[in-house]
Amino acid sequence: MTAELICVGTELLLGNIVNTNGAYIAQKCADLGLSMYYQSVVGDNMRRLCKCFRAAMKRSDVVILCGGLGPTQDDLTKEAVAKVLKRELVEDKKSRRHIEKFMKQYLRNTPEKTITQNNWKQALIPEGAIAVENANGTAPGIIVEEGEKVVILLPGPPGELIPMFENQIYPYLHKRQPEIISSRTLKICGIGESQAETDIRDLIQRQKNPTVATYAKPGEVHIRLTARAADEEAAQKLIEPVARELRNRFQDKVYTEEEGKTLEAVVVELLKSRGLTVTTVESCTGGALSARIVDVPGASDVLKQGFVTYSNKAKRKLVKVKKSTLKEQGAVSRKCAKEMAEGGAGAAGADGALSVTGFAGPEGGTDQYPVGTVFIGCTFKGKTRVKECHFNGDRSSVRAQAVVNALVLLRQCILEDSPADIKKTSSSSE
Ligand code: ATP
Ligand code: MG
Repeated sequence: MTAELICVGTELLLGNIVNTNGAYIAQKCADLGLSMYYQSVVGDNMRRLCKCFRAAMKRSDVVILCGGLGPTQDDLTKEAVAKVLKRELVEDKKSRRHIEKFMKQYLRNTPEKTITQNNWKQALIPEGAIAVENANGTAPGIIVEEGEKVVILLPGPPGELIPMFENQIYPYLHKRQPEIISSRTLKICGIGESQAETDIRDLIQRQKNPTVATYAKPGEVHIRLTARAADEEAAQKLIEPVARELRNRFQDKVYTEEEGKTLEAVVVELLKSRGLTVTTVESCTGGALSARIVDVPGASDVLKQGFVTYSNKAKRKLVKVKKSTLKEQGAVSRKCAKEMAEGGAGAAGADGALSVTGFAGPEGGTDQYPVGTVFIGCTFKGKTRVKECHFNGDRSSVRAQAVVNALVLLRQCILEDSPADIKKTSSSSE
C-alpha cells in the first residue's frame, strides 16, 4: 500500500517552522510498511491545496494531510478535501460536545474570553467521515474512507498530532496494512561510498526484499537493509542472507550491525576487551579526537590522558618530538606523526597512542603537502604505523575526516596487532 503526505501551511513554505510532523509521519508510515513515494508542502491556499490533494488521490492509497484544521479563515484543509471528494461538511455532534467541554475548561483559566463562533467550525467533518477525538485540542482528526482509498486529516500542532497518531491512527492503519517493515544497518569504515557501492552493485541491482541502500557519513558508509514481512522474525529471516553476503564482502571493515552504536564506542570496547590503554596526541584536530572517545561512557578505562600539541614547542616539550624532525621534515610529516605517537605513549604511560598532524586550512600547506594533508600515527607494543591522508573540504570537514580516520586506524591496529585472545598481562592502567 502506498501512502502520501501533504503538510499544509504557509509558515512551512517560508521556513518559519520546521516540518517535524513530516519526519514523524514518514517514519511511522515506514514502520507500518507503507511505501511513501511522495510528500508535499503546500501553503494555505484553496486552489493549490485542492490541486495537490487531487493529484495525491490519483496515485496513492492513503493520503495524510496535516495542519489547517483549526478555527481560523486560513485553515482550509477540511474544506479542500470535502470539495475534491464532493462531500458536504456536516456537524459531528460528539466533536461539538468535545469542543464545548474543552473550551469551558479553557475559559475557566481565561474568564475574560468567550467561545467565538468560528470554534464550532472545527466540529464540521465531511459527510460519512469518521471523527477522531483530539485529547489535547479542539479540532478532531478525520478519517475519510473513499472506496479503496483512505484520507486522514490531522491537526498541525505536534502536541495534538503525535498522541492522536500513536493512539488512534497507527492502530487504524495497522489493521489495513498488516505487513511491517524492519531494517538493519551494517556500518562500514575505511572505505568510500563510491567504492562500497561498486562492490555491491549487483546486490543493489537485484534488490527487492530486502532493499539495499548505502548512506555516506564522514569516513564511514552505512548499508541499510530493509525488509517487508508479516512480522519481525520473518523480516530478519529475509535480511540475514544479504547481511551475511555483505559481511563476506567487507570482512572486518564492518564494525557493527547494532543500531545506535558508534565507531568510537566500538573502538573503546575493543581496547577494553584487550585491557589496553591509549592516549591521543593531536595537532590539527585540537582535542576533537579525544572528545569523540570521551563521548563513550566508560572511556576512562582506556583513555587516561590526551595531549593537544598545537605548536612545535608543545610537540617538543610534551611528547618529545625531535627539533631536527620539525626543522627538516616539518610538523606535518610522516616522521613527526610517528614521534608524536611514540612520545605520547611514553609520556602518558599508555599501551598505545594515536597522533594527528595536518594542514586543515584554509591557509598553510606546501607544494608537497597541500591543505587537506593529514598524517595519522598509531603505535602499540613498539610497532608504529603512519597513514598519509589527503582530504577535500573546508577546515572543519578536514578535521572531522581526520578524527574518523584516526579511529579507523586505531581499530585496524588493534584488530591486526592485538588479537582478542591475547589479553595484556602487565598493566599500566590504574
Ligand atoms: P490550530 O488549531 O493551532 O490552528 P491547525 O490544525 O490549523 O491547528 P496549523 O494552523 O496548520 O494547524 O498549525 C498550527 C501550528 O502547528 C503551527 O503554528 C506550528 O507550530 C504547528 N505545525 C503545523 N504544521 C506543522 C508541521 N508540519 N511540523 C511541525 N509543526 C507544525
Ligand atoms: Mg491553524
